[in-house]
Amino acid sequence: MDANKVPKFQAKLEEIRASLVGDVARNLKTNKEEFSDIVADINDDATRTYNRQLMLNLGEQDWEKLKQVEEALGAIKKGVYGICQKCEKSIPEARLNIVPFAKYCVECLSEIEKEKLIQSQLQ
Ligand SMILES: [Zn+2]
Repeated sequence: MDANKVPKFQAKLEEIRASLVGDVARNLKTNKEEFSDIVADINDDATRTYNRQLMLNLGEQDWEKLKQVEEALGAIKKGVYGICQKCEKSIPEARLNIVPFAKYCVECLSEIEKEKLIQSQLQ
């Protein structure tokens, strides 16, 4: 990923996050810093349930999306944004334009989907 292009995706991700949590944050009447702490704990299972209660306004799908957005923002901080987490190749920019929080390239994603399907059939 061209470092010059990262801010564009970061802005998009922050926009998505704001649209997901904006209302909730307002409802909580909390300030921005406190809310960032809450969101930062999302991946911590121990606090997950508690945080979910705080975010009852979020449906399961929105919740998953928010987590992915947070992960992508974390990847930007680490300087690994836009890299497939499976094969470590760059995710094409065209894909990131559509799904700015994509973690995998299209090839790996379809592989993962296939594996999931096989697993679900075995169960
Ligand atoms: Zn890949």
